[in-house]
Amino acid sequence: MKVGSLHPIVVQSMTNTDTADVDATVAQARALHQAGSELVRVTVNNEEAARAVPEIVARVSVPVIGDFHYNGHLLLTKHPQCAAALAKYRINPGNVGARRRDENFRAIIEVALANGKPVRIGVNWGSLDQQLLTELMDENARRPEPHDSGEVMIEALVQSAMRSAELAEECGLPHDRIILSAKVSRVRDLVDVYRRLAGLSDYPLHLGLTEAGMGAKGVVASTAGLAILLQEGIGDTIRVSLTPPPGGDRTEEVQVAQQILQSLGLRSFTPQVSACPGCGRTTSTFFQEMAEQIQTHLKERMPVWRERYPGVETLRVAVMGCVVNGPGESKHADIGISLPGTFEEPKAPVYVDGRLKLTLKGGTLVADFLKILEEYVAARYGQGVTERVPAAAASPTLREPRSARKRR
Ligand code: SF4
Repeated sequence: MKVGSLHPIVVQSMTNTDTADVDATVAQARALHQAGSELVRVTVNNEEAARAVPEIVARVSVPVIGDFHYNGHLLLTKHPQCAAALAKYRINPGNVGARRRDENFRAIIEVALANGKPVRIGVNWGSLDQQLLTELMDENARRPEPHDSGEVMIEALVQSAMRSAELAEECGLPHDRIILSAKVSRVRDLVDVYRRLAGLSDYPLHLGLTEAGMGAKGVVASTAGLAILLQEGIGDTIRVSLTPPPGGDRTEEVQVAQQILQSLGLRSFTPQVSACPGCGRTTSTFFQEMAEQIQTHLKERMPVWRERYPGVETLRVAVMGCVVNGPGESKHADIGISLPGTFEEPKAPVYVDGRLKLTLKGGTLVADFLKILEEYVAARYGQGVTERVPAAAASPTLREPRSARKRR
């Protein structure tokens, strides 16, 4: 898989199983892949995990990245099959050892070189290189007007990533096998740190808000940070680090990552349903139920549609609650229905490609609309006709390059 430059932005995820538990890790990696994750990262934290990696990789069909902290140099040199099986190594320069840091870092780079693997240099403010941070703090304290500590931390993250990349290149790792990330847990810091990295280098960047949190907070905070950067053309792979509730669905992070990219018009993964929020004009829940039924139908049909109808992921469907915005929004979608609001005449006009196609009435609105939807998909995508697809959505490679993009 190619990453960086004008290649499509890649969705990445990470397992939370014990990597040594091959069956559990394979099951979760497959689920993440099935949900749309194009790269899956697993922690390789001990000998058992390193031994498990080759079998995990053999049993999944998604590239697997190894996440190393503290003992990566030991595990990768002692377990050559693990080193060979992984698609990429993630190293945190703050966690490669204090006294023999550069030596350990070099050892990992040499394994990467021997195996022809790329490396992500992933710094994290929770495990920042303390020696570098202390140096920069001391330097800052000597300034006539010192910056605040947050500013110094950002600078330390950037310098840690850049210095490590330089060291990796000095060790012989080709420039185009290095990816950088610098994760923080505050949105504004994330934007600052990545803007600086993007301005300083042309390395592909992996984006993610670390420790984003649970539920709506995690989704919103990740979206806020990633959207700003992606809109500026910054970011080549992304991960949304949500904390699932106990027993929760790990694949939610993949769905959110895809939705961020699709909402920004950078990639298309699944047909989008525009539904109005409803208001006092539509006091029944009928249109909400209909929007949900259509969404469910699309989700269930996508595995088949994806194979049979290339381009169907760009389909836009509108389900609107009343006559105020219903017809207008429906006309902007590929196919849309405007339901009758409270006290409106009980009929539902259906618009196709911006024109009124017919008006549905009676108690079988949902079934009738889904039938029209199926016919539309077959007619339009069955022949690969995608002429109404917005350029940015149809071709992820047409996204605006970041201003400092000087990629290979
Ligand atoms: S389209 Fe109609 S029902 Fe929906 S939010 Fe607007 S006014 Fe309310």
